[in-house]
Amino acid sequence: MRVLLVEDDEPVAQSLRRGLVRYGFEVEWVSTGGAALSHEGPYDVVLLDLGLPDTDGLDVCKALRGRGDVPIIVISARSDETDRVVGLELGADDYVSKPFGVREVIARIRAVMRRAQPRGEVAAAGPDTYGSRLTIDRKAARVRLDGEEVSLAPKEYGLLSFLTEEPGALMSREQIMEAVWDANWFGPTKTLDVHVAALRRKLAGAVVIEAVRGVGFRLEIAEDDGVS
Ligand code: CA
Repeated sequence: MRVLLVEDDEPVAQSLRRGLVRYGFEVEWVSTGGAALSHEGPYDVVLLDLGLPDTDGLDVCKALRGRGDVPIIVISARSDETDRVVGLELGADDYVSKPFGVREVIARIRAVMRRAQPRGEVAAAGPDTYGSRLTIDRKAARVRLDGEEVSLAPKEYGLLSFLTEEPGALMSREQIMEAVWDANWFGPTKTLDVHVAALRRKLAGAVVIEAVRGVGFRLEIAEDDGVS
């Protein structure tokens, strides 16, 4: 999925871009309203900061909406409620306020893409995509690797589903056991290692599940190595 990120604040843009790329999005970053409007795309969703150096983000929002149906998520440091209302009136699909986490932004993107689905093929969303090889259809609880369905045991799916909520984040054994197995798990966590091993085997090359000694695990989306 291609994201047009319109944000003049470089540290914010860089960290958002890093986070989105980690989740398998392609990100085109521009830092002015003019560059956003002259960008030829194609892109599937726009993340639009309202406070831009050259134009008011709301005008950019209106102009983009005038051209088509691409979902627009407005990001703003302004806490003013009127911005939110005006942004939505001008055709934005959703709104996030700074400071925000990458997870929140991704949740919003996925939500607007799901809503946008009937609007046209460009916005076809469906399963969540991780890198170029792995997709997870969370509604149907189905996992595909290179388009082929991967057969996972229920807890393997639960573990993958949990770890892919935030690729790159270190999750402790306790957090994982609580989330995937039982809310009050005090027993040995050997079963976790068995399930991690199964996921590594079944999803080899698409994800890397790194063990962090004494703490837990960290899932990374494998870089596209050009294997066809
Ligand atoms: Ca700004």
